[in-house]
Amino acid sequence: MNTDVLVIGGGLAGLSTAFHLRRSGLSCLVAEAQDKVGGLAASERVDGFTFDRTGHLLHLHDRYGAGLVRSVLGSNLAEHRRDSAIRSCGVETRYPFQANTFGLPSRVVEDCLAGFLETVHWPERPKDDSFRAWCLAQFGSGISRHFMLPYNEKVWRRPLSRINTEWQGPFVPKPKAGEVLCGALMDQTKAFGYNAAFLYPMRGGIQPLADGLAGRLRPGQVLLSSPVTKVDLGSRIAEISGKGEVRFKRLVNTAPLPAFLDMATGLPGAVRSAAKRLRHNRVLCLNLGVQGHVSDRHWIYFPEKEFPFYRVGFASNFSPHVAPRGASSLYIEASRRPEESVSFPALERQYLVGLRRCGLLKSSHRILAKQWVPIDYGYVVYDRDRGPALATIFACLRKARVESIGRYGAWKYSFMEAAILDGKACAERLRK
Ligand SMILES: Cc1cc2nc3c(=O)[nH]c(=O)nc-3n(C[C@H](O)[C@H](O)[C@H](O)COP(=O)(O)OP(=O)(O)OC[C@H]3O[C@@H](n4cnc5c(N)ncnc54)[C@H](O)[C@@H]3O)c2cc1C
Repeated sequence: MNTDVLVIGGGLAGLSTAFHLRRSGLSCLVAEAQDKVGGLAASERVDGFTFDRTGHLLHLHDRYGAGLVRSVLGSNLAEHRRDSAIRSCGVETRYPFQANTFGLPSRVVEDCLAGFLETVHWPERPKDDSFRAWCLAQFGSGISRHFMLPYNEKVWRRPLSRINTEWQGPFVPKPKAGEVLCGALMDQTKAFGYNAAFLYPMRGGIQPLADGLAGRLRPGQVLLSSPVTKVDLGSRIAEISGKGEVRFKRLVNTAPLPAFLDMATGLPGAVRSAAKRLRHNRVLCLNLGVQGHVSDRHWIYFPEKEFPFYRVGFASNFSPHVAPRGASSLYIEASRRPEESVSFPALERQYLVGLRRCGLLKSSHRILAKQWVPIDYGYVVYDRDRGPALATIFACLRKARVESIGRYGAWKYSFMEAAILDGKACAERLRK
């Protein structure tokens, strides 16, 4: 096979690249390892439930991105106002914690307010560039101790003194002083943050977005069940398992960057050692289908150690069509370092105990379906090694005329709309 552009991966970034190359005159092939498109934004039917790979909600902030998603999904789209909560000290408070301490025990509210007011009256620069120091300087000791630090320790599984703040920009809401005070005195309904409203398909889970994009490509342009196993950047030939060789002029990678560098030949040793300094976490998602109603929320955060998960979401509150009538669909998430060994049966028992302890699962709730979704590359870790390692790797990939894009190709914390826009920007560079 010969192609002008070979795209590794048929997730949203890869599909979007091919979509935006449609009228470029360049031929483009997408090789996808799985038997369906979508990558992380794919869904599966299990015993009458439609499960995503944890919650995948559309937060559309870019005019072009929003227009494209809406045109692909058409009327199969519903808009929601987020209803999410934090469960701590035995109560549920509104998200985000820092703007909604009302309802927590008074000693906790006092702690949070006192610490926050200190940051307002005696503002200090963070002691270093870590996420931990930033939280203390931004929110004070109480909010940090009761939510920001324990919650983020659960997600990152590393000391927060070694995580930097480069990822948090749009993802951590920063309420003003008046809003923090107001949210301590009353049940504040004001919405905060990048995901205060979201869209989700009415039917089919999140899968129709990727299917819709793929449907706009030429038949045969996406090769499914086609893992790329080797890339020779010198001769510009890639090997697809079971399908043979593809000769390409330009290469676009959307597979996780370390995995791509592993299969690429012709790269200098400096790139290989830089790749060893890239770190990530796994996300261990259990999808559950349950008889009966479980919660009205969209999702709940669990900062406390006594719960083995950091977040539980309720997909049947995004769309009633992802669960049979009278049933609920939940996703439960925890994270692990890649080297940590995991016993899924043991973890499942811990999840169920945790769900019962917080009262979400009751004895009347019969489990109708379940599916483990281990996401081997979940969160890219933003530590001190990441920036310099990426600088070395990308300088070399540019020379080799390789684009590496998307959440894991570019090795970053981002979301579905950003993956689509990455593909568009990449196509524009290739056209030039
Ligand atoms: C826990 C979690 C929750 C999230 N929730 C949301 C959310 O609510 N909203 C949101 O907007 N975003 C969310 N995201 C982010 C979103 O999933 C991603 O930003 C987006 O889907 C990334 O798309 P991508 O194409 O860059 O990567 P991927 O979806 O990872 O696609 C890469 C593709 O490459 C394929 N591949 C890998 N190796 C090879 C190979 N050797 N050969 C061929 N193919 C290969 C993979 O099978 C995959 O299909 C979440 C992510 C996580 C981890």
